Amino acid sequence: MNDRYVDLHTHSTASDGTLAPSEVVRLAAAQGLSAIALTDHDTVAGVAEATSAALSFGLDFLPGIEISAEFPQPGTLHILGYGIDPESPDLKNLTETLLAGRDNRNPKIVAKLQELGMQITMAEVEAEAKGGVIGRPHIAAILVRKGYANSMADAFKYYLAPGGSAYFDKERLSPRTAIEMIRKAGGLAVLAHPSQLRTTNDAELERVIKDLIDLGLAGIEVLHSDHTDRQVEQYTKLADRYGVLKTGGSDFHGSNKPTIPLGQAGGRRVPRAFYDGLVRALEQGRGYK
Ligand code: AMP
Ligand code: ZN
Ligand code: FE
Ligand code: FE
Repeated sequence: MNDRYVDLHTHSTASDGTLAPSEVVRLAAAQGLSAIALTDHDTVAGVAEATSAALSFGLDFLPGIEISAEFPQPGTLHILGYGIDPESPDLKNLTETLLAGRDNRNPKIVAKLQELGMQITMAEVEAEAKGGVIGRPHIAAILVRKGYANSMADAFKYYLAPGGSAYFDKERLSPRTAIEMIRKAGGLAVLAHPSQLRTTNDAELERVIKDLIDLGLAGIEVLHSDHTDRQVEQYTKLADRYGVLKTGGSDFHGSNKPTIPLGQAGGRRVPRAFYDGLVRALEQGRGYK
């Protein structure tokens, strides 16, 4: 068993991953990881199952969530919440708000695809999501299966991503509210994959990060499948300069993102120290107001 590595960014069937929460944990154990966090989009519905799986496989586990916040296009701002209390009323309030945004958006995407001549219904999308939070990857998977797109990437490029013909945005929380709600739910807010902010220069990136830290951000995801070596170095320096936590993960989605293996962040491994840092900060109550 290799105790030195963890994965702090994973998705299950509770959102747009293709493995059940317990299967994600089982795979992590099979790979010899010593800890994982489940960070499904907008829900903690997979946390209970993952927690008991982690217990039986002897892995350390952190409950998590990933939420999208307002940010100017073409960038996206995702905030991870670690150590949130799955029973907290504040969390319930948060996830209900986020799900309402999706319920509003998803039928618009499907209606547009129908208008473009494709045979797809909300019922099929719901079936694809198997009761989990419905995300665009579920719609993309249907488009691929029915031959309307050659790959998940193409389904996004031509239809579902900004600039695609069936793109609709969902209502998002402001970064301030997102961070505040994660903290109220007892969690630590961490900036996910800063590369996806698509900031155009180093000064702009630093300003965004500094503003988020002023709002209560506790850490930066320095290791992620999308990051280049230069970006890892840059994000590490920023985290150290501002004295916030460093985290990392694969952003595993099972076969919805076939090029991303669990436990790998762009060919890099995520050190156990990143998990320990989060746990220590939670113990010190840094997640709480
Ligand atoms: P949603 O939460 O429904 O807005 O969908 C966002 C999810 O779609 C992201 O977390 C990714 O899993 C996936 N995604 C976004 N853009 C792309 C893309 N260009 N190619 C493949 N997957 C994507
Ligand atoms: Zn996703
Ligand atoms: Fe994300
Ligand atoms: Fe993610």
